[in-house]
Amino acid sequence: MLLYAIISPQEPGETLAKRKIIDFHQHLHSLVDAEKLRAIGEKFGVVKTVLLGMPESRRPGNNKLVLTAVKLNPDFFIPFAGFDFRTMTSQDILAFKDQGFWGIKFIAPLLPYNDSRYLPIYQQAARLKMVCFFHLGIVANSPAWRDCDSSLMRPIYLDHIARNFPELTIIGAHFGNPWSDEAAMACRWNPNLFFDFSGSLLKYRPAKYLSNLLWWKPNSPYHSPDNTSPWQKIVFGSDVVPEEVSDVINDYEKLFQTLRLPQKWQAFVWWKNAAKILNL
Ligand SMILES: [Zn+2]
Repeated sequence: MLLYAIISPQEPGETLAKRKIIDFHQHLHSLVDAEKLRAIGEKFGVVKTVLLGMPESRRPGNNKLVLTAVKLNPDFFIPFAGFDFRTMTSQDILAFKDQGFWGIKFIAPLLPYNDSRYLPIYQQAARLKMVCFFHLGIVANSPAWRDCDSSLMRPIYLDHIARNFPELTIIGAHFGNPWSDEAAMACRWNPNLFFDFSGSLLKYRPAKYLSNLLWWKPNSPYHSPDNTSPWQKIVFGSDVVPEEVSDVINDYEKLFQTLRLPQKWQAFVWWKNAAKILNL
């Protein structure tokens, strides 16, 4: 209700059901949750959801669960495979492609993401045209992630990967939280690098903080190499349980309203950027 109240003054003709959203950041705990995501999506205008699988050694069977959910809902879910840095090599990227995954989700590296020993993995993904999605920044301190070193997942490492592989499409999660200044500058300089605002970012970073970081403008002396708006580099991602997806939609909405972001750029964040990345 609150959400509708916020939207309606600016765009009287638009309703929640009509607005299109692509959720680029979801995980799956059960097939029951898959049904819930679908139902919630219909209610709030989410037309596609990317399911990011988890590494086998962290959450056994999760990649399989993702594929099953996609088989049951092929028009709604898009599968990304959780890469396991403990056990996998570039050969596994090929296997994931054969299994039907569209992209790869990376988390918990044992070396910095841009270590030269990892580059063949990204090269393989680029060759197979698989989108690479990276967890960035701090990781929740829960049993499966107790050994994780968050400093190996700083956003600036994606700058190095993005410029090494300009043909590879890369998405960084959580705007690099807490290192969003690194994320923003890497975003400006690399046309193939995108970010989502999921996680706690929108709960504690003021709108002004984010607009200060996304400062460059097309057709100005400090434009990006491809002369795009920073809002053409941000995607919607929820990364919460189905019941809380609408709360994250509300947070993005509040951000846009506070910044008085033109509808044109809002549409890019809600779905156009994701549609372009996924070739929809
Ligand atoms: Zn996540």
